[in-house]
Amino acid sequence: MSTAETMRFQAEARQVLDLMIHSLYTNKEIFLRELISNASDALDRLRVESLTNENLLGKDKLFEIVIEADSDARTLTVHDSGIGMSRQEVIDHIGTIARSGTRELLEGLKDQPGELARKMIGQFGVGFYSAFMAADRVSLSTRRAGEAGGTLWESDGNGEYTLSEAEKFRRGTSITLHLKPVDEENGIEDFTREWVVRRIVKQYSDFVTYPITFKEAGQAAKTVEAEAKPINSMKPIWARPSSDVTDEDYTEFYKHISHDWNAPLKHFSFKAEGRIEYQSLLYFPSEAPMDLFFDTGRFGLQLYVRQVLIMENCEEILPRYLRFVRGVVDSSDLPLNISRQRLQEDRHITQIRKWIARKVIDALTELARNDTENYEKLWNQFGRVLKEGVSFDVEARDKLSPLLRFDSSNDADRKTTLAEYASRMKPEQNEIFYLTGESRRTIADSPHLEAFAAHDIEVLFLSDPIDEMMVGALDEYEGKKLKSVGKGTVAIGGKEEQNESRKDLNARQVEYLDLMTLLKAKLGSDVREVRLTNRLTDSAACLVVADSDMSPQLERILRLQGGQPPDQQRIMELNPDHDIVKKLKARVDADKDDPAIDEFAELLFGGALLAEGSELKDPARFNRALSTLMSRHL
Ligand code: ADP
Ligand code: MG
Repeated sequence: MSTAETMRFQAEARQVLDLMIHSLYTNKEIFLRELISNASDALDRLRVESLTNENLLGKDKLFEIVIEADSDARTLTVHDSGIGMSRQEVIDHIGTIARSGTRELLEGLKDQPGELARKMIGQFGVGFYSAFMAADRVSLSTRRAGEAGGTLWESDGNGEYTLSEAEKFRRGTSITLHLKPVDEENGIEDFTREWVVRRIVKQYSDFVTYPITFKEAGQAAKTVEAEAKPINSMKPIWARPSSDVTDEDYTEFYKHISHDWNAPLKHFSFKAEGRIEYQSLLYFPSEAPMDLFFDTGRFGLQLYVRQVLIMENCEEILPRYLRFVRGVVDSSDLPLNISRQRLQEDRHITQIRKWIARKVIDALTELARNDTENYEKLWNQFGRVLKEGVSFDVEARDKLSPLLRFDSSNDADRKTTLAEYASRMKPEQNEIFYLTGESRRTIADSPHLEAFAAHDIEVLFLSDPIDEMMVGALDEYEGKKLKSVGKGTVAIGGKEEQNESRKDLNARQVEYLDLMTLLKAKLGSDVREVRLTNRLTDSAACLVVADSDMSPQLERILRLQGGQPPDQQRIMELNPDHDIVKKLKARVDADKDDPAIDEFAELLFGGALLAEGSELKDPARFNRALSTLMSRHL
C-alpha cells in the first residue's frame, strides 16, 4: 500500500467547511439526509450510465444504501453501491467546490450575522461537508464502477485531508463518521442507535427509490438480498395520491432533488393522459441559486420513464426562461435508453416541453392572482429570468407580459403591472412611458421625469440590464406603445396642450437661436444638436438620444461586457424658462466672445451627463472649467 498523501482543501472549500464546523445549523441530524442524498445521486448516476454500458455493473446488480452503526467505536458508516469516485474525482468533488458563484457567495457572507449566513449557505447546499457537524473525523473510501483500485480519503476538517490507495471490495462509496460525543442540547443525538437512524431516514429520505437498510457492526452482512427490510417506503412521491403526502414530504423531496436547503415557495403537480402520458411534480424555489445567471448553472427537470430515472438535469423539457423551476417529469412513453441526441428530436419531448411551459405559466398566473405576497417574493428572485422569456420567446410573450412587475413613479414601495399602469393612464395619454437607468434611484432623480411629474403622468423605472431588450421585444401592451422618456421628443398632455407648447417652443426657438448655435459650436462633436424642450421644469438642461439610438443605459451595459458601442451623439435640450438658460442667453446676446461661455457650456453638458448616470467624457476638462469659473467669481 502506498503512503498517504496530505493535501489542502481549496480555499473556498476551507471557508465553507469552517462555516459548517462552527455550525450555523442547530439541526445537525440533516447530515444523514445529505449523505443519503449523495448516495442516492451516485446510484442514479450508475443506473443512468449502465443504461448504455451494461458492463459497469459486473456481477453486482444490487442498488442499495446500507447504514452501519458501531456503538463501541462510535462510528456511523453510509455505504452505497453507486457509481463511486476515481482518485481525481475525489480531489475535484470532495476537496473542491467547483460551483459557479462560490467566491461571490463567500465574499457576501463575510460580514453577515449568523442567521443570514445560514440562509445563504442553505441556498448553496453544502451537502457532504455537513458530515463535520456531527463528526470530528470523516473517512471516505470509494471505488469507481468499472475501475480496479480504490481511494481512501480522510480528514478532520481542519484545512487538510489525506489520500491513499485502498482496497475496496465493493464498487461505490463508504463514508465513515467518527461521531462527536452525544450532546442532545446541541442537536447531537446518539446516531448509532437504530431507532434514531430510523426516525431520521423516515423523516427526510423516505421517498429515496433505493432500499436503505440498517445494520449493526459485526452483524453478518444483512443486505436487501438477505431480506433485511428497508427503512424507507421507496415510493416515488409523485406517484402517490397527494392526500397521502404531507407538505413536509414534498419539502424534503424538493431538497433532495434541488440540493437547496431552504423550503420551496410552492409545489404543484399535474398529469396528462391520452396520446402522451406523463406526470409531473414541480416546484418554485424560494431563493435563487447562486448560479442562476452563470452559463455553467445546472438546470432542467429530472426525467423518469415509468419511475426509473433516465436523466438528471433534462434541459430539453423546460424552456430556459423557466430554468428556476425544479421537479420531476415521469413519462410512460419514452424508451428507457433514449440518448440526449435522440431526446432533442423526440416528438414526445417537444410536446411535454410545451405542456410544461403552459402549466408553469398557469401556476405563476394563479400565484400572481391569489397570493400576491408570495408572487412578489418569486418575482424578486426570478423576475429577471422571466423577462428573458418576454425578450426571446415570441410565443410566450403575451402570456408572460401580465406577470411582469415594474418599479414606477406611482408608488415608491410597490411594484406595478402593465394593466395597473394602463388603468391609471390619462384620458389623452396613449403611450406607456418608461425610463431605463442604473438603479431605481438614479432613474427617479433623472431630469427627464420633471415634466411628467408636473403633469402627474406615471413613468415606469427599468433598472435591470435585460430591460432594454425586453421593452424592445415587447414594443406595446394592449395597443399602447412603450415609449422611453429619454429618447426623441415626448408629447405630454392633450392635443391642444401639445399644439400650444409646440407653437410656444417654435416661437422661442428664434429667440434662443444665437445661444443654441453658439453652444453647438462650443460643444462640437459632443452633441448632435442643441434644442429647446418642454420636458424640464427644475433643471436647466438634459441630454436625450434619437428614437432610433441606443439609450445611455444600453451603451453602458455593452461597454461593461467589453463591447464597443457606436459613438453616439447626444441631443442637448435646454429649458428656456430656467434662470441659468435665460441669463446665459442674455450674456450671449450681449457679447458672443465672452470667454466664460466656454466654461458654462462645458458645465451644462457635463452636469447633464452626470444627471443621466453617465460618466464625464473628459473629467479633467470639466474640472478645469469648474475651477476657472469659481476663481473668477470668488
Ligand atoms: P452536491 O450533492 O450538491 O453536488 P455535495 O457536497 O453533497 O454536493 O457532494 C459533492 C460531490 O461529491 C457530489 O456532487 C459528487 O460528485 C461527490 N459525491 C459525494 N458523495 C458521493 C457518493 N456517495 N458517491 C459518489 N460521489 C459522491
Ligand atoms: Mg449532495
